Amino acid sequence: MPELPEVEVTRQSFCGRIEGARVTEVRLGKPLRWPLGIESEQLIDRTVGEATRRGKYLWLPLARSGDDGGGLLMHLGMSGSLAFGTGLGSAAQHDHFDLVTTRGMLRLTDPRRFGAVVWSPSIDEGTAAKLLCGLGLEPFDPAFTGQHLYAALRKRRVAVKLALLAGDIVVGAGNIYACEALFAAGIDPRLRSNRLSLRRCERLADAVRQTLAQALALGGSTLRDFRDAHGMQGKFQAQAQVYGREGEACRVCGSAVRRVVQGQRSTFFCASCQRR
Ligand SMILES: [Zn+2]
Repeated sequence: MPELPEVEVTRQSFCGRIEGARVTEVRLGKPLRWPLGIESEQLIDRTVGEATRRGKYLWLPLARSGDDGGGLLMHLGMSGSLAFGTGLGSAAQHDHFDLVTTRGMLRLTDPRRFGAVVWSPSIDEGTAAKLLCGLGLEPFDPAFTGQHLYAALRKRRVAVKLALLAGDIVVGAGNIYACEALFAAGIDPRLRSNRLSLRRCERLADAVRQTLAQALALGGSTLRDFRDAHGMQGKFQAQAQVYGREGEACRVCGSAVRRVVQGQRSTFFCASCQRR
């Protein structure tokens, strides 16, 4: 599943190249998670603004002279990827949205079709506002501090791993990154959220940021031939301390890495490096 770093690397891969382009054609494939929400002809002749990211959503402003703008909110779902270029060719079986512009085509490929491309009158109104309103802070937002995390976790009784995964305190700590951040912070993923001290919350906030920064750096280094979010995740996983390493030796202490299931997702951790 594409996570925040993959989405951010995707954004960086086309943002500068598509900005300022004019839309010349829109092609829709099979239905995605939600309908487009506008007649596709209404997108023609609009000018693409600066693509931004919020959580795992991308916002592509599409301005037209004489109206208030609006744009497309995009999500990669479980299996989606976006490519931008001039030589992408005609749509294949899993290509379900093409935005053809004067600078190249932005194409969503999504075999499982949980992805979405949805029109909204602005990022703060309509569908976009509805989809984004429950999201937590961005991990690199200066407001995401240990104190913020501490105040939010104090109100919860669920395991700290589940509180991170929920995405309403901080976005970006998907399954791999939550496991790795908890390892880096030395915190047992099963620990109840409201039992974390401020000091441990500070370490955890740093660990979330550092884990995501590491993933972004990895994506940045493969940006040129970046095509598939899963390829990038694979590279991160190859360096993982605990994720996907059940039964293998902890890279720090040598104990066997354990796996438990929390909220139907696998959690990997080292019971001696990560304390309750
Ligand atoms: Zn260990």
